[in-house]
Amino acid sequence: MEQKRVCRRCLTRDMDQAAYFQNLHDYIADLDEELKVGEPLYEKRLSLCKECDLLLDGMCRACGCFVELRAALKKNACPYEKWGRVTDG
Ligand code: SF4
Repeated sequence: MEQKRVCRRCLTRDMDQAAYFQNLHDYIADLDEELKVGEPLYEKRLSLCKECDLLLDGMCRACGCFVELRAALKKNACPYEKWGRVTDG
């Protein structure tokens, strides 16, 4: 089987869109489980982002983050307090 080469030091402008988003999703999947919220809360956060006028092409126009990455981490919160951080560990 042919091994697919992955550029670890590419800028987004040097990558095709599919490869870039696959990298993002792989990065989220590989985050330390201790740092991530559970799946129900993750989906709740994303559902709030999907209703928000500031969501554009997967990015939050308030903070510049990809919301799927921002919402994955317990320590993060929405800059407009539509969802909050997890403080109980
Ligand atoms: S993080 Fe907050 S402001 Fe940004 S898109 Fe999500 S709900 Fe909207």
